[in-house]
Amino acid sequence: MQIYKVGGAVRDRLLGKPVTDIDWVVVGATTEEMLAKGFRPVGADFPVFLHPKSGEEYALARTERKNGRGYGGFIFHASPDVTLEEDLIRRDLTINAMAEDDQQNLTDPYHGQRDLEARLLRHVSPAFAEDPLRVLRVARFAARYAELGFTVAPETLELMRQLTESGELEALTPERSWKEIARALMEDQPQVFIKVLRECGALKVLMPEVDALFGVPQPEAHHPEIDTGVHTLSVLEQAALHKQPLTVRWACLLHDLGKGLTPEEEWPRHIAHEHKGLKLIKAVNERFKAPKDCQELALLVGEYHTHSHRALELKPSTLLELLQNFDVYRRPQRFEEFIAACEMDARGRKGLEQRSYPQADYLRGAATAARSVAVQPLLEKGFKGPELGEAIKGERLKALKGYKEAASA
Ligand code: ATP
Ligand code: MG
Repeated sequence: MQIYKVGGAVRDRLLGKPVTDIDWVVVGATTEEMLAKGFRPVGADFPVFLHPKSGEEYALARTERKNGRGYGGFIFHASPDVTLEEDLIRRDLTINAMAEDDQQNLTDPYHGQRDLEARLLRHVSPAFAEDPLRVLRVARFAARYAELGFTVAPETLELMRQLTESGELEALTPERSWKEIARALMEDQPQVFIKVLRECGALKVLMPEVDALFGVPQPEAHHPEIDTGVHTLSVLEQAALHKQPLTVRWACLLHDLGKGLTPEEEWPRHIAHEHKGLKLIKAVNERFKAPKDCQELALLVGEYHTHSHRALELKPSTLLELLQNFDVYRRPQRFEEFIAACEMDARGRKGLEQRSYPQADYLRGAATAARSVAVQPLLEKGFKGPELGEAIKGERLKALKGYKEAASA
């Protein structure tokens, strides 16, 4: 049997990027031979094994054939007579379809090296269209390597467009899509992921609520970039520049969905867009079965981002309501993430990227003031049950009045 490094490990070594996980392909072997060497089987659908010591993935060379819709609709054929070239042709991009032996001799039948140099993400063969996940993968690689100058080859973008139009994207499971979305959002230029999806029409299918923001104007005084879609991309860009976690990035992407529902007569104003957007945020959350913390933060940021921007003008009672709704006493981290998302929203505007956001510290101070109310003295006064709750709220309100006065003095 011959063993080769494949995929990301070869690509990233040639790009001079750190290689984290290594995928291997084994040519000329049977499952029985792999088991006899101590490899542990893991693949349910096709023969993939874990190395007994390194734990890295070793897949038997295989071919694939499409049979019906979706990811389930594949027939795999793995046998010792499948060649390296046959295995490589089923891969998505030419830069992912190179293999390397233990002497670093490159096997590159589909010219991945040439495309690396040309900075092009190009499909290997028309069979690309057989797995709709590849649309998301290409957009994710575009986000990852945008910094190096990579773009999607025009003919690949065209194929992504055809795939989208064929309706195949709808066959993706929420789990597979979310995995790609989450990884893409954590890249250095997540806005490129959304841009590429939009260019091939996939955004309209996957997240029509986000797609609808393009072409929707906002008041120039607050939004020099005017377009709500452009603003959303800038907010995402800021979130990545500021190394925000996935929860914050997800909330940034969805914070303004309500603006897509504003009747044109009301443009460029968006009255009550925060509240109107909630049902859309919920729909996107559920479509991809986003993790609970992502779902929660997106809804809270959607509902309250304007509160954050106006923090210094809020009445103490409104501030209290905000802090109560966030359960800031037990969930301080989530409130921090909310503030972070709102700050990214404020900076994700043309020419205002460097602005300061005093609202952030003001809100943190308010949370500290409300949290400083001690419960023990109220218990000692004999408050219980709902009355105790009301008494605590009363004390917190007093604390916030004091805080606001001190801050504006
Ligand atoms: P990463 O750095 O994100 O791990 P990678 O290229 O190694 O990038 P993997 O998901 O680990 O990506 O997959 C390893 C290889 O398997 C890819 O390089 C590609 O050749 C192939 N591959 C993975 N998923 C697909 C797919 N859906 N369609 C076609 N080829 C795929
Ligand atoms: Mg990999």
